[in-house]
Formats: sequence, structure tokens, C-alpha cells
Amino acid sequence: MIPFNDLSRRVEQLRGPLEKRFSRILDGGKFILGESVARLEDEFARYCGVRHGVGVASGTDAIWLALEGLGIGDGDEVLTVANTCAPTISAILKCGATPVLVDVDPETLTMDAGHAERAISRRSRCLLPVHLYGQCADMKPLRSLARRRGLFLVEDCAQAHGASYRGRRAGSLGDAGAFSFYPTKNLGALGDGGMVVTNNSRLADRIRLLRNYGYSRPNQSSIKGYNSRLDELQAGLLLEALPTLESANARRREIARAYSAAFASAVGLKSPVESPNGIPVYHLYVARVAKRDFFRKTLLARGVDTAVHYPVAIHKQKGYARLCRIGQGGLQATEKAAAEIVSLPLYPELGALEIEKVIAAAINACLPKRV
Ligand SMILES: *Cc1c(COP(=O)(O)O)cnc(C)c1O
Repeated sequence: MIPFNDLSRRVEQLRGPLEKRFSRILDGGKFILGESVARLEDEFARYCGVRHGVGVASGTDAIWLALEGLGIGDGDEVLTVANTCAPTISAILKCGATPVLVDVDPETLTMDAGHAERAISRRSRCLLPVHLYGQCADMKPLRSLARRRGLFLVEDCAQAHGASYRGRRAGSLGDAGAFSFYPTKNLGALGDGGMVVTNNSRLADRIRLLRNYGYSRPNQSSIKGYNSRLDELQAGLLLEALPTLESANARRREIARAYSAAFASAVGLKSPVESPNGIPVYHLYVARVAKRDFFRKTLLARGVDTAVHYPVAIHKQKGYARLCRIGQGGLQATEKAAAEIVSLPLYPELGALEIEKVIAAAINACLPKRV
């Protein structure tokens, strides 16, 4: 069986250095907001090409605190997409704002600036595109829209560690970038974690206060704050994993390109579309098929596990539907994609034989039967 993902393979490669690093952290006796977090903030911000990084408790919190740090709250609207993971929406609601769902480009499935513009109201304060599956949204028109209409631009980079757009890394393309270190992400911890990256030093300072009860000095709060911190053990692991991110992303691209080359002639199986403006990092390899249930069942029968990201768009989910506004023009491209998308196993540790097996199974599941 080829599992959809297998994180044990990832940590196994780091086990030796991790044990040494954890043991140093244990000896040091400081477990929250210590040296490892500060070093990771520096190193990850530099990696993204921005000045500041602020470690927080999760990717959801990174989005929430970026928005709240920008002063977005009750009565405001944040424009985002409906084909995302629930945390994007949960984070907007957490700061008190209303998510406005706008349709995506039918090929790349990322936020479309034209649809976003039509969804803007007097209450709109911020664009929150999602760099879905590891590919940056088309940021040039979104940046110019944000500038023209006086909106903030925050990137949901939870799936895009190391992705780039016109030569710049995800996280450096707007007012702030929000990253998740959830274990399955391209840069993942052994639990929850996240980071906001930004060139805005006032924003970074504010998020540092927000994440730690508003303390500007020990036990003295200068603003209302919360508890949302990255801990030393997670930061220690991430410091060990960060130097391997580039080669892991390159390997993801290599596997993705092998899949796409092999599927070029398969009937009824459409490979993901790569934008010419960027370099994706294939957090997920998401193809499109007409008969998804049949496709997935056939792959499973041949020992290949698959998944769907995401089968139900946000506006169709009971927990969120009533809390969101749908932008003018509806969500046609979003809904069409939700019915066709399927994610194939793709992780840097996949072996050559496994890749062959995925390809053979996928092609077998969509070619018309030979007589
Ligand atoms: C993972 C993810 C997040 C944040 O998730 P956390 O579990 O809170 O770290 C946000 N947006 C997207 C698109 C994600 O995939």
C-alpha cells in the first residue's frame, strides 16, 4: 500500500540530529520563547526574504494575529476564497471580521483579482489569497487591486513554504505572510506551530505583544493580548528541518513533473496547471478527473491511497456558510473544481518504484478499456 502521506519517513531522516538538539533544549531548561524560537524567526524570515518573523501557536493564529495586528476586527470584511482549508475562514472570524468568498481562476484555482474587485464593499479591509497546493496566487493584479482600493494584502502561505512568484518568495508579496508548521506542511513540526513574516516592523512588534498577553515587560500588558506562542522544542525541530526544505521542495517538483509528463496522454485525467509566473512547491499534487469516485476506488484497489482537498467548499459547510458573504458573480469555478479534484500521494520520501506504481495505477484508472 502506498499511503497518501507518511510522516514517519520524514522524521526518521532527522532522528539523530533531532535527538541531540532536543537534549540541548532539555538541558537549557527554557521551553517557551527562548533561543530556538528567536533563531528560527530570524532564519525563516531571511529564507522568505523579509525582515521579521514572529512565531505563534498555529497557522490559524498566524492569519488571525496578522489581521488583528493590522487593526482588522468587528464590522470589517476580509476577501478570501472558498476552496481552502477551514482554518483560513476560522482565523478571519476569530478577529471578528466577516469572510467574503470570491471565485478563483478556473485553471490555477487561486484568487482571481477580477472577482475580488467585484466583491469589494465599503467594509472591505483586506485581501487574503491562499497559495493553494503550494502555488502562489497571481499576486501582481492582487497587489495593484489592494493598492488602488486601499486594502491590506495578507498571504495564506500555509501550503507554500519556499514557493516563489516573479522571483520573490511567498510571504514577501503583501503586508504579511502567514505560515503553518502543522506536521504535514512542507515545513512541518511535531505538533502545532506557525509564523507571521513581514517587512513592517510596527506590525511585527504588535504581533509579538499580541502573542504573549500584551506584555511589553514581564507581567505588564501594554495592549490586550492572548497566548499564542511557538515552543522551543518545535522551533528546535524546525531549525533542523529548514536547511532541508529547498531539496525537499525540489524533489516534490521532480515527482510532480514525472506525474504530469506521464499523464499528458491519459484520457480524462488533467494534471495541475503551473503558472508561468512562479515556482510551485507542490504541497499537494491535485489532478482533475471526471469520474472521481471510480478513479479513487480503482487506485485504492491497486494499493494507492488518494485524498480530496477540499471536497466541500466553505460556503457549503454548515459551520461556516451563514457566517460568510459570497462575492458578486458567485463561485462557479470553485464549485466545478470541488467535484473534480483529486490529490495523489506526493512527498519527497516517495521511492522510484512507488512513483511508477502511482503513475501506472492512475493511467489504468482513466484509459478507456482496451478490447
Ligand atoms: C494548514 C492550513 C492553515 C493553518 O492550519 P493550522 O492547522 O492552524 O496550522 C491555513 N490555511 C491553509 C490553506 C492550510 O492548508
